[in-house]
Amino acid sequence: MLSELKMVVNKKLQKTPFRSNLSMTKSEIYCKLVSNELCKEKGKLMTDLLYHSDSFLKEFEAKIVNVDTESRVIYLDRTAFYPVGGGQPCDLGILSRGETIFPVERVKKQGDEVLHFIGGKESLPLKGREMHGEIDWERRYKLMRTHTGMHILCGVIFRDYGASVTGGDMELLKGRMDFEFETLRADLVHIIESAVNQEIEASREVRVKILPREEAFKIPDLIRTKINLLPEGIEMVRTVEIVGLDLQADGGTHVRNSAEVGRIRIVDYKSKGAINKRIYVEVE
Ligand SMILES: [Zn+2]
Repeated sequence: MLSELKMVVNKKLQKTPFRSNLSMTKSEIYCKLVSNELCKEKGKLMTDLLYHSDSFLKEFEAKIVNVDTESRVIYLDRTAFYPVGGGQPCDLGILSRGETIFPVERVKKQGDEVLHFIGGKESLPLKGREMHGEIDWERRYKLMRTHTGMHILCGVIFRDYGASVTGGDMELLKGRMDFEFETLRADLVHIIESAVNQEIEASREVRVKILPREEAFKIPDLIRTKINLLPEGIEMVRTVEIVGLDLQADGGTHVRNSAEVGRIRIVDYKSKGAINKRIYVEVE
Protein backbone atom coordinates (compact mmCIF):
# COMPACT_ATOMS: atom_id res chain seq x y z
CA MET A 1 0.00 0.00 0.00
CA LEU A 2 2.73 2.39 1.04
CA SER A 3 4.83 1.67 -2.01
CA GLU A 4 1.78 2.25 -4.18
CA LEU A 5 1.34 5.64 -2.53
CA LYS A 6 5.00 6.40 -3.13
CA MET A 7 4.63 5.59 -6.81
CA VAL A 8 1.59 7.84 -7.23
CA VAL A 9 3.33 10.67 -5.41
CA ASN A 10 6.54 10.32 -7.40
CA LYS A 11 4.60 10.41 -10.65
CA LYS A 12 2.79 13.57 -9.53
CA LEU A 13 6.05 15.11 -8.39
CA GLN A 14 7.38 14.81 -11.94
CA LYS A 15 4.27 16.58 -13.26
CA THR A 16 4.32 19.39 -10.67
CA PRO A 17 5.08 22.68 -12.40
CA PHE A 18 8.07 24.50 -10.92
CA ARG A 19 8.04 28.27 -11.20
CA SER A 20 10.44 30.86 -9.98
CA ASN A 21 8.24 32.33 -7.24
CA LEU A 22 8.01 28.94 -5.62
CA SER A 23 10.65 28.20 -3.07
CA MET A 24 9.31 24.90 -1.84
CA THR A 25 11.90 22.20 -1.49
CA LYS A 26 11.25 18.86 -3.09
CA SER A 27 10.58 17.32 0.33
CA GLU A 28 7.96 19.99 1.08
CA ILE A 29 6.17 19.26 -2.16
CA TYR A 30 6.47 15.56 -1.40
CA CYS A 31 4.76 16.08 1.99
CA LYS A 32 1.96 18.02 0.36
CA LEU A 33 1.38 15.37 -2.29
CA VAL A 34 1.39 12.59 0.31
CA SER A 35 -1.25 14.39 2.37
CA ASN A 36 -3.36 14.91 -0.79
CA GLU A 37 -3.12 11.21 -1.61
CA LEU A 38 -4.00 10.19 1.94
CA CYS A 39 -7.14 12.32 1.74
CA LYS A 40 -8.10 10.63 -1.49
CA GLU A 41 -7.64 7.23 0.13
CA LYS A 42 -10.05 8.25 2.85
CA GLY A 43 -12.54 8.87 0.04
CA LYS A 44 -12.47 12.61 0.43
CA LEU A 45 -12.40 14.63 -2.75
CA MET A 46 -9.69 17.21 -2.76
CA THR A 47 -8.99 19.75 -5.45
CA ASP A 48 -5.29 20.23 -6.17
CA LEU A 49 -4.81 23.97 -5.67
CA LEU A 50 -2.42 24.90 -8.48
CA TYR A 51 -2.45 28.59 -7.51
CA HIS A 52 -0.87 27.65 -4.16
CA SER A 53 2.36 26.54 -5.74
CA ASP A 54 2.22 28.79 -8.81
CA SER A 55 0.38 32.11 -8.65
CA PHE A 56 1.48 32.90 -12.20
CA LEU A 57 -0.28 29.94 -13.81
CA LYS A 58 -2.86 31.38 -16.24
CA GLU A 59 -4.02 28.23 -18.07
CA PHE A 60 -4.29 24.59 -17.06
CA GLU A 61 -5.78 21.22 -17.97
CA ALA A 62 -7.98 19.35 -15.51
CA LYS A 63 -10.46 16.53 -15.28
CA ILE A 64 -14.05 16.90 -14.09
CA VAL A 65 -14.56 14.88 -10.90
CA ASN A 66 -18.14 15.95 -10.23
CA VAL A 67 -20.93 18.02 -11.80
CA ASP A 68 -23.95 19.59 -10.15
CA THR A 69 -26.23 20.39 -13.10
CA GLU A 70 -28.87 22.06 -10.94
CA SER A 71 -26.55 24.65 -9.40
CA ARG A 72 -24.32 24.60 -12.51
CA VAL A 73 -21.20 23.76 -10.52
CA ILE A 74 -18.14 21.95 -11.91
CA TYR A 75 -15.64 20.22 -9.60
CA LEU A 76 -12.17 19.61 -11.04
CA ASP A 77 -9.26 17.44 -9.88
CA ARG A 78 -7.00 20.50 -10.07
CA THR A 79 -7.54 24.20 -10.55
CA ALA A 80 -5.73 27.50 -11.01
CA PHE A 81 -8.92 29.42 -10.16
CA TYR A 82 -8.57 31.18 -6.81
CA PRO A 83 -11.76 30.81 -4.75
CA VAL A 84 -12.94 33.72 -2.63
CA GLY A 85 -11.13 33.71 0.72
CA GLY A 86 -8.65 35.43 3.01
CA GLY A 87 -10.00 38.82 1.93
CA GLN A 88 -9.13 38.15 -1.72
CA PRO A 89 -12.00 38.02 -4.25
CA CYS A 90 -12.27 34.98 -6.51
CA ASP A 91 -10.94 34.63 -10.02
CA LEU A 92 -13.12 34.77 -13.08
CA GLY A 93 -12.41 33.21 -16.46
CA ILE A 94 -13.46 30.30 -18.62
CA LEU A 95 -13.45 26.55 -18.77
CA SER A 96 -13.55 25.16 -22.27
CA ARG A 97 -13.82 21.89 -24.09
CA GLY A 98 -13.13 22.03 -27.80
CA GLU A 99 -15.05 24.98 -29.16
CA THR A 100 -17.48 25.11 -26.27
CA ILE A 101 -16.87 27.77 -23.65
CA PHE A 102 -18.20 27.71 -20.11
CA PRO A 103 -17.84 31.06 -18.35
CA VAL A 104 -16.70 30.80 -14.71
CA GLU A 105 -18.73 33.39 -12.84
CA ARG A 106 -17.89 32.58 -9.25
CA VAL A 107 -15.41 30.30 -7.47
CA LYS A 108 -15.84 29.10 -3.91
CA LYS A 109 -14.01 26.68 -1.64
CA GLN A 110 -15.99 24.21 0.39
CA GLY A 111 -13.91 21.96 2.61
CA ASP A 112 -11.14 20.63 0.36
CA GLU A 113 -13.07 21.17 -2.85
CA VAL A 114 -13.22 24.13 -5.20
CA LEU A 115 -16.61 24.88 -6.76
CA HIS A 116 -16.65 26.55 -10.19
CA PHE A 117 -20.03 28.20 -10.82
CA ILE A 118 -20.75 28.20 -14.53
CA GLY A 119 -22.81 30.84 -16.32
CA GLY A 120 -24.50 30.65 -19.72
CA LYS A 121 -27.03 28.10 -20.93
CA GLU A 122 -24.73 25.46 -22.41
CA SER A 123 -25.38 22.05 -20.87
CA LEU A 124 -22.48 21.02 -18.67
CA PRO A 125 -19.99 18.31 -19.70
CA LEU A 126 -19.97 14.95 -17.95
CA LYS A 127 -17.83 13.73 -15.09
CA GLY A 128 -14.48 12.38 -16.31
CA ARG A 129 -14.16 14.85 -19.19
CA GLU A 130 -10.92 16.80 -19.66
CA MET A 131 -11.26 20.58 -19.54
CA HIS A 132 -9.06 23.52 -20.35
CA GLY A 133 -9.11 26.37 -17.84
CA GLU A 134 -8.09 29.96 -18.38
CA ILE A 135 -8.25 32.62 -15.70
CA ASP A 136 -8.92 36.30 -16.34
CA TRP A 137 -5.29 37.29 -15.85
CA GLU A 138 -5.77 41.06 -15.95
CA ARG A 139 -8.14 40.83 -12.99
CA ARG A 140 -6.01 38.31 -11.09
CA TYR A 141 -2.77 40.24 -11.50
CA LYS A 142 -4.43 43.37 -10.10
CA LEU A 143 -5.62 41.32 -7.14
CA MET A 144 -2.11 39.91 -6.63
CA ARG A 145 -0.61 43.41 -6.63
CA THR A 146 -3.30 44.55 -4.19
CA HIS A 147 -2.83 41.56 -1.87
CA THR A 148 0.95 41.93 -1.72
CA GLY A 149 0.48 45.67 -1.13
CA MET A 150 -1.72 44.89 1.87
CA HIS A 151 0.97 42.62 3.32
CA ILE A 152 3.54 45.39 2.91
CA LEU A 153 1.21 47.74 4.80
CA CYS A 154 0.87 45.13 7.60
CA GLY A 155 4.62 44.62 7.70
CA VAL A 156 5.37 48.34 7.94
CA ILE A 157 2.76 49.01 10.64
CA PHE A 158 3.95 46.09 12.74
CA ARG A 159 7.64 46.98 12.32
CA ASP A 160 7.21 50.69 13.05
CA TYR A 161 4.34 50.73 15.57
CA GLY A 162 3.99 47.14 16.80
CA ALA A 163 0.34 47.16 15.75
CA SER A 164 -1.22 43.88 14.60
CA VAL A 165 -3.80 43.56 11.88
CA THR A 166 -7.27 42.44 13.00
CA GLY A 167 -9.09 42.23 9.71
CA GLY A 168 -9.22 43.34 6.12
CA ASP A 169 -10.83 43.11 2.76
CA MET A 170 -9.79 43.90 -0.80
CA GLU A 171 -11.12 44.55 -4.26
CA LEU A 172 -9.31 45.26 -7.50
CA LEU A 173 -6.62 47.83 -6.70
CA LYS A 174 -8.14 48.88 -3.41
CA GLY A 175 -8.66 47.57 0.07
CA ARG A 176 -9.06 48.27 3.76
CA MET A 177 -7.29 46.91 6.81
CA ASP A 178 -8.02 47.17 10.52
CA PHE A 179 -5.18 47.53 13.03
CA GLU A 180 -4.87 47.46 16.81
CA PHE A 181 -3.81 51.06 16.82
CA GLU A 182 -4.63 53.66 19.48
CA THR A 183 -3.81 56.94 17.81
CA LEU A 184 -3.85 57.53 14.10
CA ARG A 185 -3.56 61.07 12.82
CA ALA A 186 -3.20 62.62 9.35
CA ASP A 187 0.54 63.25 9.78
CA LEU A 188 1.08 59.64 10.85
CA VAL A 189 -0.88 58.41 7.83
CA HIS A 190 1.52 60.33 5.58
CA ILE A 191 4.52 58.77 7.28
CA ILE A 192 3.01 55.28 6.92
CA GLU A 193 2.21 55.87 3.26
CA SER A 194 5.73 56.91 2.39
CA ALA A 195 7.24 54.05 4.42
CA VAL A 196 5.04 51.57 2.49
CA ASN A 197 6.10 53.05 -0.85
CA GLN A 198 9.73 52.91 0.20
CA GLU A 199 9.36 49.17 0.89
CA ILE A 200 7.67 48.67 -2.48
CA GLU A 201 10.53 50.46 -4.25
CA ALA A 202 13.08 48.39 -2.31
CA SER A 203 12.23 45.48 -4.69
CA ARG A 204 11.85 42.95 -1.92
CA GLU A 205 11.52 39.35 -3.03
CA VAL A 206 8.22 37.59 -2.24
CA ARG A 207 8.72 33.94 -1.25
CA VAL A 208 6.01 31.29 -1.02
CA LYS A 209 6.58 28.10 0.94
CA ILE A 210 4.44 25.15 1.94
CA LEU A 211 5.68 23.67 5.22
CA PRO A 212 4.62 20.85 7.52
CA ARG A 213 2.61 22.30 10.42
CA GLU A 214 5.26 21.53 13.10
CA GLU A 215 7.94 23.31 11.11
CA ALA A 216 5.78 26.40 10.61
CA PHE A 217 5.03 26.53 14.32
CA LYS A 218 8.74 26.98 15.03
CA ILE A 219 8.92 30.28 13.12
CA PRO A 220 8.64 33.15 15.66
CA ASP A 221 7.24 35.63 13.09
CA LEU A 222 4.38 33.30 12.29
CA ILE A 223 3.45 32.83 15.90
CA ARG A 224 2.87 36.55 16.32
CA THR A 225 0.46 36.49 13.36
CA LYS A 226 -1.74 34.04 15.23
CA ILE A 227 -0.79 30.91 13.32
CA ASN A 228 -1.98 28.95 16.38
CA LEU A 229 -5.53 29.78 15.31
CA LEU A 230 -5.15 27.42 12.34
CA PRO A 231 -7.60 24.50 12.59
CA GLU A 232 -6.09 21.24 13.91
CA GLY A 233 -6.70 19.27 10.73
CA ILE A 234 -4.41 21.44 8.62
CA GLU A 235 -1.19 19.48 8.13
CA MET A 236 0.58 21.78 5.72
CA VAL A 237 0.96 25.51 6.21
CA ARG A 238 1.55 27.88 3.32
CA THR A 239 3.62 30.93 4.14
CA VAL A 240 4.11 34.15 2.19
CA GLU A 241 7.24 36.12 3.02
CA ILE A 242 8.13 39.58 1.83
CA VAL A 243 11.78 39.05 2.55
CA GLY A 244 13.05 41.29 5.33
CA LEU A 245 9.63 42.77 6.08
CA ASP A 246 6.71 40.43 6.59
CA LEU A 247 5.96 36.74 7.01
CA GLN A 248 2.44 35.35 7.25
CA ALA A 249 0.54 32.11 6.94
CA ASP A 250 -1.50 32.91 3.86
CA GLY A 251 -3.43 31.18 1.12
CA GLY A 252 -3.64 34.10 -1.31
CA THR A 253 -1.89 34.83 -4.58
CA HIS A 254 1.02 37.26 -4.64
CA VAL A 255 3.45 38.92 -7.03
CA ARG A 256 7.12 37.83 -7.05
CA ASN A 257 8.62 41.14 -6.07
CA SER A 258 7.33 44.11 -4.08
CA ALA A 259 8.17 46.46 -6.98
CA GLU A 260 5.36 44.89 -9.02
CA VAL A 261 2.78 46.37 -6.63
CA GLY A 262 3.16 49.93 -7.91
CA ARG A 263 2.43 52.99 -5.77
CA ILE A 264 0.12 52.81 -2.77
CA ARG A 265 -2.03 55.69 -1.57
CA ILE A 266 -3.74 55.79 1.80
CA VAL A 267 -7.00 57.43 0.79
CA ASP A 268 -8.81 57.46 4.14
CA TYR A 269 -8.74 56.24 7.72
CA LYS A 270 -11.37 55.83 10.36
CA SER A 271 -11.64 54.98 14.03
CA LYS A 272 -13.53 51.74 14.61
CA GLY A 273 -13.19 51.83 18.40
CA ALA A 274 -10.63 52.85 21.03
CA ILE A 275 -7.88 50.53 19.80
CA ASN A 276 -9.14 49.70 16.33
CA LYS A 277 -8.33 51.86 13.32
CA ARG A 278 -9.29 51.22 9.72
CA ILE A 279 -7.00 52.26 6.87
CA TYR A 280 -8.22 52.52 3.25
CA VAL A 281 -5.68 52.10 0.48
CA GLU A 282 -5.61 52.30 -3.29
CA VAL A 283 -3.03 50.88 -5.64
CA GLU A 284 -2.08 53.11 -8.56
ZN1 LIG B 1 -2.88 37.80 2.81
